[in-house]
Amino acid sequence: MEADAARVVVVTGPGRLEVVELPIPETGDDDGLLLVETNGVCGSDLELIEGSVDGYSLPMVLGHEPAGRIIRLGPAAQKRLGLKVGDRVAVNSQLRCGHCDGCRQTGTCLTFPGTYGTMPAAFEPGLWGGFATHMYLSPSATMVRVADTVTRSELAFHNPLANGFEWAVQAGQVGQGSDVLILGAGPRGIACALASLFVDARQVTLAGLGHDRARLDMARVLGVHRTVVVETNDADELRDTTGSHHLVIDTTPGSGSAVRQAVSAVADGGRLVLGGLKGRGVTFGIDVDIIVRRRLTMVGPPSKSTASFSQAVEALNSGRIHLEPMTTQAYPLERTLEAIKSITATDLNRPLHVRVDPQL
Ligand SMILES: [Zn+2]
Ligand SMILES: [Zn+2]
Repeated sequence: MEADAARVVVVTGPGRLEVVELPIPETGDDDGLLLVETNGVCGSDLELIEGSVDGYSLPMVLGHEPAGRIIRLGPAAQKRLGLKVGDRVAVNSQLRCGHCDGCRQTGTCLTFPGTYGTMPAAFEPGLWGGFATHMYLSPSATMVRVADTVTRSELAFHNPLANGFEWAVQAGQVGQGSDVLILGAGPRGIACALASLFVDARQVTLAGLGHDRARLDMARVLGVHRTVVVETNDADELRDTTGSHHLVIDTTPGSGSAVRQAVSAVADGGRLVLGGLKGRGVTFGIDVDIIVRRRLTMVGPPSKSTASFSQAVEALNSGRIHLEPMTTQAYPLERTLEAIKSITATDLNRPLHVRVDPQL
């Protein structure tokens, strides 16, 4: 029998989370309901609870990497999505109505004041986050079916992996035979490496810092061809170690010096992808003429697109991406705050990826 209330994690103030009960709404012809199986935790969650991201109003529902089982889906939604009740799905956090000026012109929908995991709790019906037992499947939501063979820890990685496909394959144009250098041994960097390996890149090199050694070793187990440790902030150290590459992807958070190293390591005429936000106020001092003279292309897609989201889930479904060597940890809903804070712990053996499993 279906529950009549959902338990939902809500941000009520800076650094404050509460698990609240919200009624499960009626659903109709073109919407539905998800029983949440897992929701990945990432650095954005920490920024959101600390209030260091502008433009969101509290109380806010949290959890933008949801996946689970569809328990209600109206006939029109079934037809539109090609899905049915009982299907296991990963849900794209982006909500797009498809017909407002924002959707038509900039790609940022103006109908919704946020995405899944950043919406005000007061916005009906409130079930807009994946740190919850149930999530509302809006007519504006998109999702991709997940095979039952995908493990829960693999499933929880769908969102970072989608970003990896966006940065490496969509923006970086990695394909068969490519040679790619990736900076950063966190989930972003690992995801770019996995996406590159999935499309049969010839050589994938992952660069990390000294304290990333355990992660770099794990990356080798996941199939990365070469790993290097960057010891200093010297702009040319990375290039001197790895040689020049036609594609360099920088996924390091908070570091301007990494961008200088990345620029130095791009071959003339090559491409640099900035994978994700650095954080407020991070700058890099580079002689602009270097970019021009060396004919470099720099691109910075912030995160996944519909295309990369589908690619990531299909890659998981294919069984050709094995994340089992990756250390992950699952938390119950009540310990969501602890889960989010654990990813900033300085413990060198901390899990690479953390998730909340609301049915635990
Ligand atoms: Zn995230
Ligand atoms: Zn819209």
